[in-house]
Amino acid sequence: MNSPYRVAVVGCAGRMGRMNLATVHATEGCVIAGGCDQPGSPAIGSDLGLLIGGEALGVTVGDDPVELFALADAVIDFTVPAVTRRHADLAAQAEVVYVVGTTGLEAEHQAAIDRAAIQTVVVQAANMSLGVNLQQVITEQVARALDADYDIEIVEMHHRHKIDAPSGTALMLGQAAAKGRGVVLDEVARKARDGIVGARPRGEIGFATLRGGDVAGDHSVIFAAEGEQIVLSHRATSREVFAKGAMKAALWGRGKPAGLYSMRDVLGL
Ligand code: NAD
Repeated sequence: MNSPYRVAVVGCAGRMGRMNLATVHATEGCVIAGGCDQPGSPAIGSDLGLLIGGEALGVTVGDDPVELFALADAVIDFTVPAVTRRHADLAAQAEVVYVVGTTGLEAEHQAAIDRAAIQTVVVQAANMSLGVNLQQVITEQVARALDADYDIEIVEMHHRHKIDAPSGTALMLGQAAAKGRGVVLDEVARKARDGIVGARPRGEIGFATLRGGDVAGDHSVIFAAEGEQIVLSHRATSREVFAKGAMKAALWGRGKPAGLYSMRDVLGL
């Protein structure tokens, strides 16, 4: 009989962390290897089962990622950019399947993830849902088919607690649009507008960010021309889709060669 796949969750007291714990727990053949959160978090010491509204599991939330990475086969990380480097280094040392969903990463955080992927399997995506990854593929195709007579605008809305903007998913969709159009996103992106900004330059890819309530994630890519608009929209109605995607990524990565993979690889898109 195969031994159970041990999946650990870092940032396990967070909105996504709890959802990830519950998903690992519900997945056949998998066990929760453990969970940790930041030192000082009120969740430290709580039973992981109780944290997700179930029966006690006899495993508590820790604050030591070193120990956690050492005893896991896979680690799911939806935390904050500042700890990415440490977690990526630990993933490389322990050679675990490392699934990263954290967004708002700067170049230095990304460099740590890229380094880890030389040693181990890393699956990274700003959005782990099937729907958004399909939206990304279609966005690239539509942008390839249309010229710059079609202005591209990306609109997103998230809950009031989100700390980065535009969302990682909006940027991912922007990258897809830029790729389809054959341009570099950083050279054409307009991430906010305020004041007398003048007429819209041809070829710009614009972003608009909305925040409020408990919205799990809405994204629309608009192609607007004289006389018509194409709108590609996705709405996440529950964070469960992201957690299921992360779990799928953790299972997919088992036994794969070291490397940096995306959800498009996992989903075969
Ligand atoms: P959250 O604030 O609810 O959770 C973050 C958790 O990380 C918190 O529990 C926090 O205490 C913990 N944390 C902070 N520092 C830590 C440390 N040093 N060690 C361990 N844990 C630490 O946020 P959230 O809504 O769960 O989102 C988390 C991240 O996931 C964000 O970057 C968000 O954009 C991203 N996200 C990605 C996807 C996706 O599909 N890729 C989906 C939803 C959210």
